[in-house]
Amino acid sequence: MQLSDYKSYRETNIIHGANGFLCRLCTKVISHKGDIKRHFMDRHMVRDLMFTCPGCSKLFTAKNSFTSHVYRNHPQFKGIDFMEFATKIKSE
Ligand SMILES: [Zn+2]
Ligand SMILES: [Zn+2]
Repeated sequence: MQLSDYKSYRETNIIHGANGFLCRLCTKVISHKGDIKRHFMDRHMVRDLMFTCPGCSKLFTAKNSFTSHVYRNHPQFKGIDFMEFATKIKSE
């Protein structure tokens, strides 16, 4: 599935339940409303993102290789919010 629009993702795939917000794409429950967008960016839009390494400014298109690069080469950045270093590739 290719998702590019957070608004339509939220409208069609987020169910507001008793315990929080349920993502229908991966059945994860998100307890805070403010975390929905991060979840979407993190889980369902990774292919459209590029990551800039905070340690050496190297660019990555896959979050997995980016995080393992940071963990291996820049352990001082462990625990940071990696989405802070993501930029959207698509310019629509
Ligand atoms: Zn999800
Ligand atoms: Zn680096």
